[in-house]
Amino acid sequence: MKIRRDWIDGIKKPVIISGPCSAETEEQVFLTANELKEQGVVNILRAGIWKPRTRPNSFEGVGEPGLKWLVDAGKEVGMPVTTEVANAAHVEVALKAGVDILWLGARTTVNPFSVQEIADAIKGVDIPVMVKNPINPDLQLWIGAMERIYNAGIDQIGAIHRGFSSFEKSVYRNTPKWEMPIELKRAYPDLPMICDPSHIGGSRDLIGMISQKALDLDMDGLMIESHINPSVALSDAAQQVTPSALGEIVNDLIVRTATTSNEEFKNHLDKLREEIDGIDDGIIQQLATRMNVAVKIGEYKRDNEVTILQVNRWDTIVKKRKALGGALGLSEGFIDQLLKIIHKESIRKQTEIMNKKEEA
Ligand code: PEP
Ligand code: MN
Repeated sequence: MKIRRDWIDGIKKPVIISGPCSAETEEQVFLTANELKEQGVVNILRAGIWKPRTRPNSFEGVGEPGLKWLVDAGKEVGMPVTTEVANAAHVEVALKAGVDILWLGARTTVNPFSVQEIADAIKGVDIPVMVKNPINPDLQLWIGAMERIYNAGIDQIGAIHRGFSSFEKSVYRNTPKWEMPIELKRAYPDLPMICDPSHIGGSRDLIGMISQKALDLDMDGLMIESHINPSVALSDAAQQVTPSALGEIVNDLIVRTATTSNEEFKNHLDKLREEIDGIDDGIIQQLATRMNVAVKIGEYKRDNEVTILQVNRWDTIVKKRKALGGALGLSEGFIDQLLKIIHKESIRKQTEIMNKKEEA
C-alpha cells in the first residue's frame, strides 16, 4: 500500500478528533461542536450516527437525521467531520450528506464481508477512511481491512488503535496491546496512526495517561469522545469528557519531536524502550495469568489429595521449554533459571493452598 497522508499533513501533530460517542439531539451536537471550537485544540469533529451495541435495546443511534446535524455543525465551526459506517447503505447516505472522513468500527473490521461491502460502496470516491483495529488482536485482519479499502482505490487511509477485547481482568476496557500498532507502523511507516484512548480506557480518568503514551509512541493523533454533559450521555457515559476537560487533557500533553540527527537517535532509542516496556507489561500480565492457573491446579490437587510435585511432569516441562527456547535463540541457562524461579513461585502458592483448610 502506498498511503497518501494529505488529510492530516496540514495539521500540526497531534491531530485531535473529538465529539460525542453518539449524536443524540441537534442541540447536543451543535453545543458540543461550539464548545470544542472554543477550546481551540480540535481539528476534526466526530459523532456516531449508527451505534453498534453489545446488547439490543440499548441506544442504537439516531440514524440518518443525525448526519445533517453533524455536517451542519462542522460547517458552523469550520471543521471537517467524520462518522462510523458499518454497511453500504451507511456509506451512501454519509457521502450524500457531505461527511468528510469515514471510519470503520472495531466490530466491522473484524468481518471481511462487511469491509468488502463498504469498500465496494466507496469505490471511486476520494475520501479519507480510517480503520479501527478489530476487537481481537489480529494484525493481519486489521491490515486486510485496510487493503480491501485501498484496493477500492482509496489511498488516504488511517488506522485507529482502540484496544482489544480480553478475558483477562485489567484496568482497561480494551487492553491496548501497544505492540500491535507498533508492528503496524513498522510495516507501514507512512500510515497515519490515531489512538482512541476513550475506548481503550473506558473511563475518563485514564484518557490523559493513554494519550501521552500514544504520543510517546509517535502516533499522529487522538480520537477522544466528548459530550456537553457526559454523565447523561446515551452511550459510553463513563468515558466521555466535557469539551473543557478535553482542552485540559490536550494542553497537558507533552509533544516530543525529532529535529536534529541526535534527536533522531534518541527518538529511535525511546521507541525501542517503549517497545520493551510494552513487552515487559505483557510478560508480567502473562505471569500473573500463569500463577492463577497454578492456583487452580493447587486447589484441584488438594481436593484430590495429590502431591504438589510430580517429578515426571516437571522434567517434561523443563525439556520442552529448553528446546523451544533453544529454537528461538535463547540460552539453556537462561531458560533454566527462568523456569526455576517461576516454578518456585508456583510451588509456594500451591503450598499456601494445601495448608489452607478447604472452605466449607
Ligand atoms: C465509537 O467510536 O464510538 C465506537 C463504537 O468505537 P469502536 O468501534 O472502537 O467500539
Ligand atoms: Mn463510543
